[in-house]
Amino acid sequence: MKPLTIAIDGPVGAGKSTISDEVAKRLGILHLDTGAMYRAVGLAAVQNGIDPRDEDAVCRLCKDGRTQVDVKYENGHQITLLNGVDVSAAIRTQEAGSAASAVSRYQPVRKMLVARQQEMAQQQSMLLDGRDIGTVVLKDATVKIYLTASAQARATRRRNQLLEKGTDVPIDQILSEVNARDYQDTHRAVDPLRQAEDAVLLDSSSLSFEETVEAILNLVEEHA
Ligand code: C5P
Repeated sequence: MKPLTIAIDGPVGAGKSTISDEVAKRLGILHLDTGAMYRAVGLAAVQNGIDPRDEDAVCRLCKDGRTQVDVKYENGHQITLLNGVDVSAAIRTQEAGSAASAVSRYQPVRKMLVARQQEMAQQQSMLLDGRDIGTVVLKDATVKIYLTASAQARATRRRNQLLEKGTDVPIDQILSEVNARDYQDTHRAVDPLRQAEDAVLLDSSSLSFEETVEAILNLVEEHA
């Protein structure tokens, strides 16, 4: 039987990662957070003293298998590997996030990571979340969901997450960061973030975590 493939795309702060983790867990399938792979390339640039905005230098770094990004699973949890080293924690910094945003604009970087993502999704049932899953990586996914929320709702959630960690950042600052990331992701030349024509739009602005998870599980049931 063909593996079940679920594509979840959407802007920053829509809760894709945590929601995807939970949906995959309930379905008993693996979740691939593709953003982690772009973060690993961003980290590779930083570690090598390369400016992530220097396209030629980043592409040289990724040439001929010099930078290997891979993923393995331990107890169903994704471990992201950079040249064989577990970088799952190191990629979660602000620096790795903005480096990821820069390097994700380069075609050779995308080509390398998309190939690996497609290879993994061919081998087993999987849920992939990212920006280009429904439009590029898994064009024939079983279910495609475009998960979004208003910029205000996403900024408020982000602010609450930071508050829980003891950091108080003004909402206006977070909102302008969210808007800047949205602009960058939707306006880049290569594979910009957009809703696939056959994706279902799910706006979680007024939905709880559980309601969003259930809405996705219902969509999967309808399409599978
Ligand atoms: O999802 P996350 O914020 O971890 O992704 C990091 C960066 O990688 C994003 O800013 C986005 O531009 C990029 N990305 C991408 N394509 C994907 C996943 C992430 O371009 N499929």
